[in-house]
Amino acid sequence: EAKSMGSNRLRVYKSEYGENASKRNRLLFELKAAIAQDKLTVVYQPQFKLGGHEISGVEVLCRWHHPEDGMISPDVFIPLAEQHGLISDITDFVMQRAILELQRSGLMHEAIPRVSFNVSANDFDNAHSTQRFLHNLAELEGPWSAIELELTETSALLNLEGIRNALKVLTERGVQVSLDDFGTGYSSLSTLRLLPINEVKIDQSFIRDINKNPQDARLVKTIIAMGNALNLRVIAEGVENHEQAKYLAREGCEEVQGYLYAKPMPIKSLMTFIQNLRTSNSPR
Ligand code: C2E
Ligand code: MG
Ligand code: MG
Ligand code: MG
Repeated sequence: EAKSMGSNRLRVYKSEYGENASKRNRLLFELKAAIAQDKLTVVYQPQFKLGGHEISGVEVLCRWHHPEDGMISPDVFIPLAEQHGLISDITDFVMQRAILELQRSGLMHEAIPRVSFNVSANDFDNAHSTQRFLHNLAELEGPWSAIELELTETSALLNLEGIRNALKVLTERGVQVSLDDFGTGYSSLSTLRLLPINEVKIDQSFIRDINKNPQDARLVKTIIAMGNALNLRVIAEGVENHEQAKYLAREGCEEVQGYLYAKPMPIKSLMTFIQNLRTSNSPR
């Protein structure tokens, strides 16, 4: 009885696994095609100085609109790309496309002082990675200090040497570095010592319950104080309501990003958004 149940269970498990595996293979196949055919797109989420009236930068986020399945989350296709050697193709596409769109829009530097790109450990895992980044930035007009790379601490530690070598060259040219999802990895503090970091980005999981959970509130307060003490810019992500914003302001968090201020949007909407912001900011 127990034995037959066990083998049943095994069978169920196997067929489910098989289904998931073939679904993944299909997705992988289609992701490769989407990359090759330039079907991915990018969106921009503004980041703001404390107070929320002045844009300090934008984060570039990749989007994949699948013809049948609709929008596929980067939380699904980015790990898939990382596992199958496709991430650097995505990074190259995202950087080049965003620089092109932002420069064409006329917003680069003046209206948008900083552009942040998400990068992965696998972006740095071969000898050409530094060259690739230099190539991706080649079309940028103006100072490279307008470019920021967002790394997660987990990815940073996975490939510390490769990342250090590339960052040495890039930061010498002015490129800035942010530690994304700060506080969620194993060793946030050692990463700060090992890499040339300019900014820490407090993970949204700490921000979410800031007004209900005193523990989270104290953690956030401590991260902000630490950032200030180390001369790092501190930005909070996932800010969704005024109570969160108020707390962050009171504790001296320099910058904010989240649905309260703006969602990620395509370049056309970003242009309108910035135009409207200018109109409402200018004295009447
Ligand atoms: P991330 O870099 O931590 O980006 C923040 C995510 O939070 C984005 O999700 C953004 O749309 C979302 N977000 C922004 N404000 C709010 C808010 O107020 N509330 C909530 N609940 N969410 C908010 P998205 O675009 O789905 O991206 C998910 C993750 O996928 C990113 O996390 C990043 O790790 C990765 N990713 C996205 N684009 C790229 C890319 O071009 N390259 C790489 N390597 N990774 C990417
Ligand atoms: Mg990010
Ligand atoms: Mg993050
Ligand atoms: Mg994240």
